[in-house]
This record gives sequence, C-alpha cells and structure tokens, in this order.
Amino acid sequence: MEKRVRLRFAPSPTGGLHMGGVRTALFSYLFAKKHGGDFVLRIEDTDQTRYVNGAEEYIINALKWCGIEPNEGVGFGDGSYAPYRQSERKELGIYKKYSDKLIESGHAYLAFDTSEELDEMRKKLEAAKVVAPQYNAVTRQNMKNSLALSADEVSKLIESGAPYVVRLKVPRNEEIRFHDIIRGWVTVNSTQVDDKVLLKSDGMPTYHLAHIVDDIEMKITHAVRGEEWLPSAPSHVLIYRYLGLESEMPLLAHLPLILKPDGNGKLSKRDKSGLPMFPINWHDERTGESYIGYRESGFTADAFINMLALLGWNPGDNREILSKEELIKEFSFERVNKSGAKFDPEKTKWFNQQYLRMHTNEELANSVMPLLEEKGIKKDPTFVVEFCRLVKEKAHFITEFYELGSYFFVAPTTFDEKVMTKKWNENSKSTYSKLTEKLNALPTWTIDSIHHLFAEVEPELGKIDMQVVRVLTTGVAGGAQLFDMLALIGKEEVINRLNSALAKLQ
Ligand code: GLU
Repeated sequence: MEKRVRLRFAPSPTGGLHMGGVRTALFSYLFAKKHGGDFVLRIEDTDQTRYVNGAEEYIINALKWCGIEPNEGVGFGDGSYAPYRQSERKELGIYKKYSDKLIESGHAYLAFDTSEELDEMRKKLEAAKVVAPQYNAVTRQNMKNSLALSADEVSKLIESGAPYVVRLKVPRNEEIRFHDIIRGWVTVNSTQVDDKVLLKSDGMPTYHLAHIVDDIEMKITHAVRGEEWLPSAPSHVLIYRYLGLESEMPLLAHLPLILKPDGNGKLSKRDKSGLPMFPINWHDERTGESYIGYRESGFTADAFINMLALLGWNPGDNREILSKEELIKEFSFERVNKSGAKFDPEKTKWFNQQYLRMHTNEELANSVMPLLEEKGIKKDPTFVVEFCRLVKEKAHFITEFYELGSYFFVAPTTFDEKVMTKKWNENSKSTYSKLTEKLNALPTWTIDSIHHLFAEVEPELGKIDMQVVRVLTTGVAGGAQLFDMLALIGKEEVINRLNSALAKLQ
C-alpha cells in the first residue's frame, strides 16, 4: 500500500515567522495538498532558553492569514498524533525510549563533561590550530564519557548524580551518503560530523533527536526545511540507520536560501529594501523590536503567497500569476532551484497590483473595511464594496484605498486652487446654486439619474464644468468617475457639500 503523504512544518517558537519560514511551510503545504496528504504543524520547543512568548500564536495566525492552514497540529484540527508540542511529547517518554535504544545498541553514549571542560577542550584544539574543533571520534577519547571511562567510573558518576548528556557515536572516517530531492545525492565524510548531543542533562531532547523521533512517530514522509539544516543531515541519517529505520526516513528537501535583493548574502529580518520581512505585524516581547507585516502593508495574502512560491521555484513555463489551486497542481520539488533565490521588492509590489485588480470588489471590501474602522469610519458593506470598485484601478495596495478616496468619507475644507482660479467666475455661483437646486429636486439618486440631469440642465443653466462640480464636492481635481462618485456619496451629503462650498465662494 502506498504511504499516505504527510509533511510537517516544525518551527521553533523562538521568534516571529519570517518570510523564509513561510515559504518552507508553503512548499510543504503545496506538496501535501497536491498528493491529497496531510500538512501538520509541530512546535519544536525543546530549547526552553530560546522560547519567546507569543511566537507560537504568531505562527498560527500567520499561517491562517496566508491561507496555508495545517489540517493537523498545534492550533489546527484534532489529529491523531497529539500532542504536537515537543515539550508535551517529552511526557510520553518517547525521546528517552529512542535514546536508550541507541545507547543499548552502542551507537550513543553518556558524556559527563562540564561546560568548563568543553571550553577547555575547544581552547586546546584551537591552540593546536584545529580549524573546527568538535567532540568526535578522536577528541572523545580524552573526555569524560562512557566510552573513555571505565564501567566502574561511569557507575560512580551516575550514582553521585553527576549530570550527563547523551551523545551520538559518530564513526571515524566513514562516507555518509544520502539523497535530497532538490540537491540529489550528497556525500559527506564522518570526520566532518560531530558527536551531536541527543538528550540534554535535564532529559530534554535536542532538535536532532526530537525531530527524528517525531517524524517517525507521526509517520512523516517528507521533511522540508531550510538549507541551514543541510550540515546536520548526515547525523540524522546515522540516527535513522542506528535505529534500524533508514528505510522509514522521510525524503529530505533542503530549500535554497532567500537572498538579499542585490544577491549578496542571506535576506535578513532587518532588511532595508522597504518591504516587510514578516507576513503579519510582529512584536518581539523579549527584544522589544517591532516589525511590520505584509498584511498591514496592504498586501493581499494570495499575492504574497504567489510571490513566495516563485522564490526558488517555477512552474516550468513563464507563467507568473498562479492561484493557490494552480500552485498546488503544478508544484514539485524537482523544480525547486538548488541556488539561492533573490528577493525582488519591485516584483513583489507588482504581484500585489496584479492581484488587487483580480479581486472582486466584495473581497477587497473585506480587507478595506477593518482599515476604515481603524480610522473610526463605519460604513455599510455595500458602500465599501462600491467604494472599492471606484478606487481600485489606481491602487497597488489595500492600504492606499483610503488615501485615494478619502473624499468619499470626509467633506472638503479646501478647493483645488488651480481649477478654481481658472474656472470660477462671476456667473459661477449662480449657475452652481441652480444646479444644486436641481440635484436636490431629483426624485431618485442613481448614477443614471444624476447623469441625465447633467445632460438636461445645460441648455437652461449654461455650461456646467464637471471638474468644478468635482472640486466643489471633493476638494480635489481628480478621482473616481464623477456620477458614480456622487451617487455613492449620497444625495443629502452631496447637497450639503455643494451648499457649504458655495457659501464659502464668491
Ligand atoms: N525546528 C526546526 C526549525 O525551526 C525545524 C527544522 C526541520 O524542519 O527539521 O528550523
């Protein structure tokens, strides 16, 4: 029987989820959905010293906004592999069980070295010009561990309550070969691999052990993660091998880095290209730092997701605008590039503009409404839908809608000087007063009825300048279609605005 495809996104709650992390989640999600599988959110919180309050909630909210929702995991669904937080999974005793198995088969050992002793070792090796000092097959022989000490010494240390960690016993000078779906075959010599700590002295597993145990227990089929994890992969392969589970190992996919716009180095969360690095606003309680999000900057989630999908992946042709459904249909790891993907701020804005134009007015209104409410503006949804129809052509961002059409909500206090100087004369006041009366007498107030009225009154009132009407009612010289705009602002408000403008003018 074919295995059910199961991918997990396994962030550590050490901060806000930046766009690189969202891309990892996105690629896992797309692949899982394409194959009718599961997408799981697991929280890897075994490093309690790096725990940041609010990070987990942020991750959940960010995934929700992006529309890449796990069907199982912390905050989502009620999957059958709960709990999904590693700190809670520790209580199940699984990490210890696997670690004991490795000790029993001679592939892991206890190490009693204090941090001072480890520092000392590092200093000695550095003094001996060792480039990357590490705890390994050579150095472990001179350290305080169950391989170098006698059985008697080890028992005594344990009895005395001396704290110890469990380390993986990496063999000396052995080729470790594994396959990565994006990079192909990777071969590393074990001399470059250190004896990783698997279980810490407080009994908490490290990431290296915990994620493997959980991937096994949760029947994960593909492990997708950032390139920064590639150097640890050989240790992981060894752990699977020593557990006798190499054939159960998930297929690995290490995603390329996202690079700065100039291609020089990794994109950082403090990037100064002017665009956000986080999906939604993030405030780090620990450092006090705040970062603006794509959502709050007026991006739509689908534009953001589309842009991210193309950072390092392509659909095999030159299409750039792909809906989530199309991304799911087309996605494959084979078309993820090996090399880093440059972040392009201009292109990112372009994506948003394309999406704004494609959205229905109702969808746009849903995003615009909360922004209006923040400004204390409460309007009927039907009003906001029509407002969106009238201003969307000019906008790149949801956040621009208000600025582009603030006159829909606020009566003008000043009137475009250029237009008025050029077009206002001694007859104007009487002409536009009469026009106001005619408008006021209109029995129905629709785009058509306003349009007709303007067509009909000219012979009687003389030339009516549309731009003057616009300035009298909005204060500005340009904007949305005039009749549509007047219709939406509403009869009473238009008449009031005209009367108050006329009262100010000679
Ligand atoms: N907890 C790891 C991280 O935050 C997950 C790496 C993995 O997916 O295996 O990057």
